[in-house]
Amino acid sequence: METIREKRTLLSVLAHPDDESFGMGGTLAKYAEDGTDVYLICATRGEAGEVDSEFLEGQSSIAQLREMELRCAVDKLGLREVQLLDYRDSGMSGSADNKNPEALINAPIDQVAREIAEYIRQIKPQVILTFDPIGGYRHPDHIFIHQAATKAFYLAGDPAFKSSYPLYKPGKLYYHIIPSHFVRFNVRLLRLLGKDPSKYGKNKDIDLTQIAGQDFPIHARINYSTVKYRKDAAAACHTSQGGKGLTRGFFKWISWLLGIKPEDQFMQAYPDIEQISVKKDLFS
Ligand SMILES: [Zn+2]
Repeated sequence: METIREKRTLLSVLAHPDDESFGMGGTLAKYAEDGTDVYLICATRGEAGEVDSEFLEGQSSIAQLREMELRCAVDKLGLREVQLLDYRDSGMSGSADNKNPEALINAPIDQVAREIAEYIRQIKPQVILTFDPIGGYRHPDHIFIHQAATKAFYLAGDPAFKSSYPLYKPGKLYYHIIPSHFVRFNVRLLRLLGKDPSKYGKNKDIDLTQIAGQDFPIHARINYSTVKYRKDAAAACHTSQGGKGLTRGFFKWISWLLGIKPEDQFMQAYPDIEQISVKKDLFS
């Protein structure tokens, strides 16, 4: 007998154009391919990103260029819609962009949480995904969005929160995590090669030694090998940011060497679980 599956809806709440493609893009593409309505919230237009002047020809601003790259990626991943929250990229910790009054980190967190909660009530996702508590690599906007999205998850189901859409209680909240053993391995290897693991990435602003010290439990592993081409195509949209993400160059080579599968790992934040086996489906 054929059973009719409830319409699946998933929402990913992130901070910058490229977070979706360089981070959990494989998972987003996999669910989209499977018929799930996948939505994305992007809080900023990545105004503080490093962009070489050649990419800005014919563009009025970094924001415009990066929004265009984001819309290209959304299309490649097969997402249904991207909602921009109109805050400004706060830049890496300690940068001058931190002090811009328009910066995301200077916005009242309850205000951002209300905007996200309103969108949750509108699209009714069963599953919500966001950054882990350290924002992947401690980017201040990622940490802020982790906190705002977590607040919004509960706010959407709170009768005290009045909005233009009716109350809706999403079922599951997950945090995307970077496996610490993999990061630790890379830290050791970079040191062996005489490179500085505290200054990793295109902008040399990712401190792998700090990420390596964090261990979050893995409750779900999503293998996206069947749609990896979609993630790669989406990442390639972000040409001004190198187009390859954290798995570029060195990481990519190591992944290949270690035989690491195209897979995303998630920690389940809600509901509480004490499971033994690791899930293969975020909706189960
Ligand atoms: Zn980001």
